[in-house]
Amino acid sequence: SASMAEADPEIAAAIAGELGRQRHEVELIASENIVSRAVMEAQGSVMTNKYAEGYPGHRYYGGCEFVDVAENLAIERAKKLFGAGFANVQPNSGSQMNQAVFLALLQPGDTFMGLDLAAGGHLTHGSAVNMSGKWFKPVHYGVRREDGIIDMDEVAKIAEANKPKLIIAGGSAYSRAWDFKRFREIADHVGAYFMVDMAHFAGLVAGGVHASPVPHAHVVTTTTHKSLRGPRGGLILTNDEALAKKFNSAIFPGLQGGPLMHVIAAKAVAFKEALQPDFKVYAKNVVENAKALAETLRGHGFDIVSGGTDNHLMLVDLRPKALKGNVSEKALVRAGITCNKNGIPYDPEKPFVTSGIRLGTPAATTRGFGVAEFQQVGGMIAEVLNAIAQSEEGTAPLVEAAVKARVKELTDRFPIYQ
Ligand code: PLP
Repeated sequence: SASMAEADPEIAAAIAGELGRQRHEVELIASENIVSRAVMEAQGSVMTNKYAEGYPGHRYYGGCEFVDVAENLAIERAKKLFGAGFANVQPNSGSQMNQAVFLALLQPGDTFMGLDLAAGGHLTHGSAVNMSGKWFKPVHYGVRREDGIIDMDEVAKIAEANKPKLIIAGGSAYSRAWDFKRFREIADHVGAYFMVDMAHFAGLVAGGVHASPVPHAHVVTTTTHKSLRGPRGGLILTNDEALAKKFNSAIFPGLQGGPLMHVIAAKAVAFKEALQPDFKVYAKNVVENAKALAETLRGHGFDIVSGGTDNHLMLVDLRPKALKGNVSEKALVRAGITCNKNGIPYDPEKPFVTSGIRLGTPAATTRGFGVAEFQQVGGMIAEVLNAIAQSEEGTAPLVEAAVKARVKELTDRFPIYQ
């Protein structure tokens, strides 16, 4: 049959354009990464053709002998990687993995607790516009105004006052360590399940440079495509056999039909990669690079929410420069540096404007950037943002173009997908 370029030149061109974009930008979106060829090969494989409702050995379709091999490998590797007794590798996304936990542990209208979206939590942790906020009753903890850090005494107080059935730790824009032990004590005290959504920092846990929530939580969920560097999707881990059965039923038949077997094969490949010694080096570098980027930006007069980072990401508070997140994101993208605007805790600006940008180091670390490169990147960010801070329109075409040329030189030294 015809190649993609022959069959669909428009899509082939869009994909070629995307490859070029990834090659010549500095990717600082904290939730993104650059997967290996092996992961992409598995994901682009014939396993996409297969229906396999059910679980390995218990399928509702014939012909599952090879997809069973892939799913069993994915399960065994996930368990080994995170030291967990049970793993469900079928969630199609991070949102669905969290929905499965809700379906398994809560009834509609039940109270649960999570980090406020405005303080770095995720939509699926009880945002009013998300199913988790519409069908359940979320109560939120936040971060302290003074230092941007979660106040565990406040978490305990809110839990005591509201008696949630489930308490969630984890988020999308929190740069500090989580006190999993204390969270579990609080959960036990009020009779709640304790869940950790480690989507953002799972790669650091896998690489041994971040505390693991697995010994503390009833259930740990994670996406596989962020710092963990696998295909897009979700993963549910637990050490409790009875809960494992509930999560399995919640994923299938509760929420999903046929699992994405090509993606599950790619998850298996990514977990194997994460079990190799060089993944530990990657994880260590991700954290070192994040500290270097945060320090560089502080040196240029930016504030970092909470004063720094313990993981792969940081929130840059742009208020010292009188800049907004939206214009800053756009100017950096024009200069070849990709990031996203992000509200900071207690942000006076609306979500489409914001006073911050979120930066993360996994993708550029994967392509080989070290501390020296991240210091350069920090310098370039400061140059662009200082220049637009001087302009009425929020643009600085000459500086943006000059930085873009330097980004091109830098990224050419660290090629991807050659
Ligand atoms: N949980 C957290 C903490 C996240 O950051 C994300 C990513 O956006 C998700 C869940 C949802 O993942 P997905 O985008 O795959 O639905």
